[in-house]
Amino acid sequence: MKPVRFEYAAAASSAAASALLAQVADDAKPIAGGQSLGPMLNLRLARPSALVDVSRASDMRTARDEGDAIFYGGAVTHAEIEDGDVPDATPGWLAAVARRIAYRAVRNRGTIAGSLVHADPAADWVNVLTALGAHVVVARGSAVRTVALCDFFTGPFATVLAHDEVVAGVRVLKRRATARWSYWKFCLKAGDFAKASAAVLRDPERRETRILLGAIERPPVLLDDPLAILQGRRSLADVVTQAAPHLSDEARTLHIAALRRAIALATSDGKPGGGS
Ligand SMILES: Cc1cc2nc3c(=O)[nH]c(=O)nc-3n(C[C@H](O)[C@H](O)[C@H](O)COP(=O)(O)OP(=O)(O)OC[C@H]3O[C@@H](n4cnc5c(N)ncnc54)[C@H](O)[C@@H]3O)c2cc1C
Repeated sequence: MKPVRFEYAAAASSAAASALLAQVADDAKPIAGGQSLGPMLNLRLARPSALVDVSRASDMRTARDEGDAIFYGGAVTHAEIEDGDVPDATPGWLAAVARRIAYRAVRNRGTIAGSLVHADPAADWVNVLTALGAHVVVARGSAVRTVALCDFFTGPFATVLAHDEVVAGVRVLKRRATARWSYWKFCLKAGDFAKASAAVLRDPERRETRILLGAIERPPVLLDDPLAILQGRRSLADVVTQAAPHLSDEARTLHIAALRRAIALATSDGKPGGGS
């Protein structure tokens, strides 16, 4: 099948994209890499009468160092993060995550904001950037608001964004090598979406400990009392059941295993990071 007819406009900036969305039609949508929206258009699951292309919006194509954080423009691609074309806010963790998203052709086009706004519960940036406490910077015309990712997702494939809002970028706090991190995902084959995932962050400098359960068919959950979990004072089976009571027995077993492996990686003496 092919898409229904649509108007097309390319935006030069996030503000211009938002202004165009407000002007052209109520059902207009941004398009970035087209890796998720493209198939939906072709299958006519999405039928916008207009598309606003943000993939070349100048403020969304670069990353900048803000001192305490790196701001990634929303149209930065997975490949650019993988290749180190933009600075990594972490000691290589983001590049390692990017490298394992899909395959190279998807990573060449797919963008960090496109992935977040598509809000697939199994997507890597959805889970990893929530675990890292990142914020999205949202443009509506020349106005800007900042939303913590833990408040951004309202359901599977749903976010707080209004129709004329554009994710201009993502702000990720810098993490030093003293911090420990792990992200574990179970996939049927390399480059697939995760069937279960978990992430652990231990940052002594910022006095932060975060544990996330992902790919739960809903937005990710940051687990309560992460220190007790790391210290083995809470049963992982109870933790997963409490955080995601809707999971099938099979999915629950997989999530418990993902959590166990992420914890082992983040607490072992070996090199932090990784997971598979
Ligand atoms: C074969 C295949 C395998 C994949 N495997 C994985 C995987 O293993 N892990 C993973 O995480 N992802 C995977 N993906 C998804 C991939 O990461 C996509 O790049 C991503 O989901 C969407 O990014 P995009 O830039 O292509 O967005 P688009 O497809 O262009 O847009 C997606 C949605 O976001 C909206 N949007 C885009 N940019 C903005 C913006 N700046 N502001 C507001 N709204 C915006 C669009 O309107 C649309 O609703 C896979 C995709 C394919 C095709």
